[in-house]
Amino acid sequence: MAEIVLRNVTKRWGSFTGVACTNLTIADREFLVLLGPSGCGKTTTMRMIAGLEDATEGDILIDGRRINDLDPKDRDIAMVFQSYALYPNMNVYENIRFPLKVRRVPAEEHHDQVIRAAEMVELTDFLDRRPGELSGGQRQRVALARAIVRRPNVFLMDEPLSNLDAKLRVSTRAQIKNLSHELKVTTIYVTHDQIEAMTLADRVVIMKHGVIQQVGTPVEIYDRPANTFVASFIGNPAMNLMEGTLQDGVFTGRNARIAGIAGPDGPVVLGFRAEDATVVPAGGDIVAPAYTMELLGDATMVAVRAGGALVTVKAPKDYRVEIGAPVEISVPAAICQLFDADDGSRIE
Ligand code: ATP
Repeated sequence: MAEIVLRNVTKRWGSFTGVACTNLTIADREFLVLLGPSGCGKTTTMRMIAGLEDATEGDILIDGRRINDLDPKDRDIAMVFQSYALYPNMNVYENIRFPLKVRRVPAEEHHDQVIRAAEMVELTDFLDRRPGELSGGQRQRVALARAIVRRPNVFLMDEPLSNLDAKLRVSTRAQIKNLSHELKVTTIYVTHDQIEAMTLADRVVIMKHGVIQQVGTPVEIYDRPANTFVASFIGNPAMNLMEGTLQDGVFTGRNARIAGIAGPDGPVVLGFRAEDATVVPAGGDIVAPAYTMELLGDATMVAVRAGGALVTVKAPKDYRVEIGAPVEISVPAAICQLFDADDGSRIE
C-alpha cells in the first residue's frame, strides 16, 4: 500500500514561490504524471516527496503517516532520473545488484532478483557489459532495473526518457507503462512532454508557475480543459482559441461568426479542436485566407487567422489550397467550448 497525500504543500526560496499550496492525493498503485512547462514546479514537487527538498509549509503523508521529517532513505521510494547515474566501473549485473547490497539483502537472494529485474527490462543479454558499452536506452533500462530490485512502495521518475531518441523513447515508454502495471507500484512521473503524459498516466496533473491547473484523466483533460492554459498545452495541434463576443447565442470574432452557442453575453474566448471542424466549399462559420498548409500524410492541416488567433483545421489528405486563397471552415456549435475572456477559466 502507498497512498500519497500532499496537504497545502508550499516551497519557497526567499520571496520566490516554486510550488504553491498544493493539495493532491495519489491513490495506491496509481500512475500519476506531473506535466507542465519548464520551471512550473514539477521536479520540486517530486523532490519534496522524495525528501531531497524540505517543504516550506504543509504535510506530506504516505499511508496516513506524515513523512516530512523522515530521512529520504527511510521513505521506501525509488527514483529514476533523466541522468541515470550508473557506476561506470561496474557491469550491468553489478549495477542492478548494488541496491541489494546497500540494503543488506541476503547474498543468496541477489542473483534471482537481479535476473528477474533484468528480464523485465530485457537486459539479460547485456549483463556483462559496462555502462560505457551500452546505448542510451539500454542505460536507461539499467537504471529502471536498479529501481525495480529495490521493490519500493513508490516510484518517482523525473523525465526518464528525455535523453533518448524519438524511437527509443516510444519503446521505453511502453516498457515503463507495462512495468508499472506488473509491479503495481504507486508511480509519480514528471515530464513536459504531453504525449508521454497522455499515454502513460492514469491521471495527469497540469502545473503552471507552481500552481495546479487541473487534475484529471487524459480524456478529461483533453475533452474538458479547465482553462485556456490547459487547452493550449494539451493536444497536437493545441485547441484553437478565438477571441470574440457572444450575443444572443451568436459568437462573433474577426473572420468568424458561429451561431447556436449557449453562454453569457459579453466578451469570451471560444475553443474547438482542429479535428472537430471541417473545411467546406461554402457557407463556413469562419472565412479567412489560408495562412499555412501542412501535409501530414494522413491529413492536411490548414491554418487561417481568425478571432485574433491562428486557427488550425484538419482537412482530408488530398485537400490543397493556395496560400492567401479563401478557406471556409464549418465549426459546429456543439463542439465549441467557452472560456472567460479575463482569466481564461472554463465557462460551463
Ligand atoms: P523543468 O521541466 O525545467 O525541470 P520543473 O517544472 O521541474 O522544470 P522545478 O525544477 O520544480 O521546475 O523549479 C520550479 C521553480 O523553482 C523554477 O522557477 C526554478 O527556477 C525554481 N527553483 C528550483 N530550485 C531552486 C532553488 N534551489 N533556489 C531557488 N529557486 C529554485
